[in-house]
Amino acid sequence: MDVKTDIKSLSLEELRAEIEKIGEKPFRAKQLYEWFHVRLARSCDEMTNIPKSLKEKLADGYTYTALTIAQVQTSKLDGTKKYLFELADGSLVESVWMKYRHGNSVCISSQVGCRMGCRFCASTLDGLERGLTPSEMLDQIYAIARDTGERVSNVVGMGTGEPLDNYDNLLKFIRLLTDENGLNISQRNITVSTCGLVENMLRLADEHLQITLALSLHGSTQEKRRALMPIANKYDINDVVAACKYYFEKTGRRITFEYSLIGGVNDTDEDARNLCSLVKGLNCHVNLIPVNPIKERDYTESEKEAVMRFKSRLENRHVNVTVRRELGRDIDGACGQLRRRYAQQH
Ligand code: SAH
Repeated sequence: MDVKTDIKSLSLEELRAEIEKIGEKPFRAKQLYEWFHVRLARSCDEMTNIPKSLKEKLADGYTYTALTIAQVQTSKLDGTKKYLFELADGSLVESVWMKYRHGNSVCISSQVGCRMGCRFCASTLDGLERGLTPSEMLDQIYAIARDTGERVSNVVGMGTGEPLDNYDNLLKFIRLLTDENGLNISQRNITVSTCGLVENMLRLADEHLQITLALSLHGSTQEKRRALMPIANKYDINDVVAACKYYFEKTGRRITFEYSLIGGVNDTDEDARNLCSLVKGLNCHVNLIPVNPIKERDYTESEKEAVMRFKSRLENRHVNVTVRRELGRDIDGACGQLRRRYAQQH
């Protein structure tokens, strides 16, 4: 089978080579790239300065990714929007748009489903279908920018999927997103969250990027973490933290630890103490997330008091800590609430 090239996943340089291959003038590459990544064209029809003959060649030889918005839900609590997108193969993914004082943030999905199996997360319930292509990750942002008419300044890879389980496509996506000839989002405004795939964390550290790495910790000992996250059977907690340390040493970027507080499971004083010892000496920031309920599991969030107590335990030991303000809970748009089997949910 002749697989068509996904033209919106190509770097400008790769696009130049393609354009030359099909006998077009080199300057066309830059024009096209601008339509794809700056003007955010939904289809070739919009590209007014591109001759018909070239559009026909593109239509014949390439695929052009433009996600369809299947549904938008807006939170009555905070204005957060959750987008349901349909991909060309009929798969569905969700993304979340959040408005903050410092700018607009988009949380993207990196895979259709997820195979990491974290016990408290809805995105993994039906397993992994496939990884998203770079253009499918990009177009979540582009479609939202078009729909809202507002500039996106921050991007977080915290939607459905494990970004580092789709490593090559993720890297390409980041390079396109931060390209000065494209949307030109600053690397410093991008966060990638991982459940802790050690080899790929080390690889990422060596890429010379300035993105923030967030590590989903959720347990402060190997045993506790293993009870919540199957991936901990593969990677020991100390190796994961060592990989964070390496990331900081290589990039100078402060690590974010995400810690979902689950009532009676990981929110005791002992948990707080162990967490402090674990991250001691590491330039980091701990983000506490009262766990968001999902109907298939009976985990409940920690009591407000327990959250505050946990937080002050960390502060007393000089660990930077904040409690995440969860947005979009009423539309199932908060952490761990995005899912693949959208249709069955309602
Ligand atoms: N696979 C990546 C990114 C997706 S999840 C990762 O594991 O980091 C984004 C964050 O939400 C992770 O820290 C994840 O552990 C957390 N999360 C998942 N389910 C949650 C829930 N029900 N409540 C609160 N946070 C949750």
